Amino acid sequence: MSMAIHTERLTKRYGGTEALRGLDLDVPRGSIYAFVGPNGAGKTTAIQTILNLRQPTTGRAEVMGADSRALTHENFQHIGYVSENQRLPEWMTVEEFFDYLRPLYKTWDADLHAELRRQFDLPPGRKVKQLSRGMKMKVALASALVFRPQLLILDEPFTGLDPLVREELIQGLLDRAEGMTIFVSSHDLAEIESFASHVGYLEQGRLRLSEEMAVLAERFREVQVVFEGE
Ligand code: ATP
Repeated sequence: MSMAIHTERLTKRYGGTEALRGLDLDVPRGSIYAFVGPNGAGKTTAIQTILNLRQPTTGRAEVMGADSRALTHENFQHIGYVSENQRLPEWMTVEEFFDYLRPLYKTWDADLHAELRRQFDLPPGRKVKQLSRGMKMKVALASALVFRPQLLILDEPFTGLDPLVREELIQGLLDRAEGMTIFVSSHDLAEIESFASHVGYLEQGRLRLSEEMAVLAERFREVQVVFEGE
């Protein structure tokens, strides 16, 4: 099967800290992959190493079939990334920010921009610095979606958000998930299990589990039956 993300024994050391320990990760195209693990497990390091924003200590990664060391502005167009502490230009209004983004990539979709503005109720005239945390995340997500990425990577997008805002963001994502691969990290499986097709569990830089949600749910049912039968 062709993978949106494929890594081979990816490791990353920061001085004495081994943040990633031989990560072999396969994210099928078209999946919604929940990348779960406690704080400090190495999720951000994994994402940034996969995107070659940090150099791996050893190992390699492929993103949408290309070696991540060869990621260029051209093939980066197909990848959306919203980082954990996404920095938006605080001094701009929401509209100015989108005006700034529009010419950056060929895949800008004006109709989708209008749709996202409506759906997320984005306030065009407000300065980014005046926005709530939830609204900033909506702006960040819209700014990634509007380029119709084939792969969208979201690093802990829901941390600290009101459940209602989280639901709105999830709906916005699901409405556009068709044909897209979504890779979303979280320290809380409950935040994302309802809509993920796959789940990976990272602990101390190691992938402890990577499975389809349906298979996991089936196994869980079997275990329950065994316990109930005892
Ligand atoms: P969180 O949800 O808290 O961001 P995470 O799962 O994303 O956690 P990372 O941020 O990747 O985990 O951190 C993994 C480990 O690497 C942690 O022990 C962290 O302290 C360490 N680490 C991360 N970045 C650096 C850095 N630039 N220099 C030194 N150590 C780092």
